[in-house]
Amino acid sequence: MQLYDAIVIGARCSGASTALLLAQRGHRVLVVDRSSFPSDVISTHFLWPHGMSYLNRWGLLDEVLAVTPAHTTVEVVNDGISLTGSVPTELLREYFRDLHGDDSGVVQSYASVRRRVLDEILVGAAAKAGAEVRTNFTVRELIVENGQVVGVRGRAVDGELVEERARIVVGADGRNSFVARTLALPKYDERPRCTFAYWSYWSGFDLGPAQLHRRGRLACAVAPTNFDQNMVLVWGPSEWSREFRGDVPGNYQKALDFVSPELGDVVRSKGTREERIYGTLDQSAFLRPLHGPGWVLVGDAESAKDQCTAIGITHAFRDAELVSAALDRWLRGDASIDEAMTAYGDRRRSQNAAAYHDYVCTLAEMRPYRHDELQLFVALRGNQQETDRFIATHADVAPVSEFFQASNLFLLNDAAKESSADHAVFEDFAETSRSYQQNLFA
Ligand SMILES: Cc1cc2nc3c(=O)[nH]c(=O)nc-3n(C[C@H](O)[C@H](O)[C@H](O)COP(=O)(O)OP(=O)(O)OC[C@H]3O[C@@H](n4cnc5c(N)ncnc54)[C@H](O)[C@@H]3O)c2cc1C
Repeated sequence: MQLYDAIVIGARCSGASTALLLAQRGHRVLVVDRSSFPSDVISTHFLWPHGMSYLNRWGLLDEVLAVTPAHTTVEVVNDGISLTGSVPTELLREYFRDLHGDDSGVVQSYASVRRRVLDEILVGAAAKAGAEVRTNFTVRELIVENGQVVGVRGRAVDGELVEERARIVVGADGRNSFVARTLALPKYDERPRCTFAYWSYWSGFDLGPAQLHRRGRLACAVAPTNFDQNMVLVWGPSEWSREFRGDVPGNYQKALDFVSPELGDVVRSKGTREERIYGTLDQSAFLRPLHGPGWVLVGDAESAKDQCTAIGITHAFRDAELVSAALDRWLRGDASIDEAMTAYGDRRRSQNAAAYHDYVCTLAEMRPYRHDELQLFVALRGNQQETDRFIATHADVAPVSEFFQASNLFLLNDAAKESSADHAVFEDFAETSRSYQQNLFA
């Protein structure tokens, strides 16, 4: 039996990327997935510029862009207050230097890449780099000897139980991680309040760059994607999901009409729905331990979050770079496993990571914006630099703690008071706020 350097369980954005990067460094890698490719998973697929930059760093961006439309700005509309901007290049460069030590490959574009497209490109690249890829292969057991994970047993399509061994097993197997369940790893920092999300794919219109709208406790987004289609997504607080599910197509359109009447009208009058409406209800957030004897987790297996900031794929790419660099040092003998894993852990569990986790979880509660928060958005309209920094904060490029520090908010907010009267939401704010608490689907 061959002893691999690493066995990676899960071959999507965290697993295929980790396998690719380890194989590129010359390590013997087996990556397995119970799925076959191309295939989708329950996920939309918006990529922020650092996500696109990772693809560029790995030499895969051209392949993605050959079939996927991209754009250089995004529009965020909160209660009718529109902001357009992009993550500043300098902040992107800082992000890569801080996390990975070099800023090669930075691009400032956005795209929404269907998972059936993206994951197949990643799996193909891992195989091309020399990783052994086995699809339709379900891991059924972890082999544990003397308290250390030393391999896996799994079934291929023909039903045969196969045993494989490695120096490390990487759990890249998603939020319901088999590795985590088998090792009885605890979840912590759990935040159960989250959003329900429903989306589908529409042809018949072209609205340009991605738009994200929020009104009261509901939100919607539209992004151009593969096959000349648009991904149109609606989401709201999970406590409204039961009523929403009572009539998914009707409530999907109702949510669009409420959050962005213009988008609702375009979808109704020009759009042709090309696929069924996909949906998910459980997106509660949590963290798990990062590593232990013979195993390490990446992507959603280690840190799952609500979809409301569309960051999971980009974070999976980040984890893949961090973990493969750490494992490479250990596999080459340049560091002990403890040193390597501590280095991975320090970067993953920084103060900024904790603040961002909290930011996503708080946003996912979908509380209506307060008066002062909306005033802040008004102030940002006149200040492109701060608008861009706000977008960078939302995307986890600029630290949340810096943008939301009291002095910055105070200065911005003071400026906002001058101009807020122009926006409808301020006309009878108390009444508007009360109406936003009503479940639209009840
Ligand atoms: C509704 C929704 C919308 C989202 N929208 C976005 C977005 O717009 N942008 C964004 O960046 N992120 C988004 N995300 C988050 C993103 O989907 C996840 O963060 C990302 O998929 C995590 O990737 P992963 O590789 O860690 O896990 P996954 O993509 O879940 O892949 C895990 C793989 O492991 C395999 N596997 C599991 N168990 C086994 C086993 N026992 N044996 C073999 N294989 C196994 C599975 O088959 C699967 O292929 C969204 C998520 C949801 C739910």
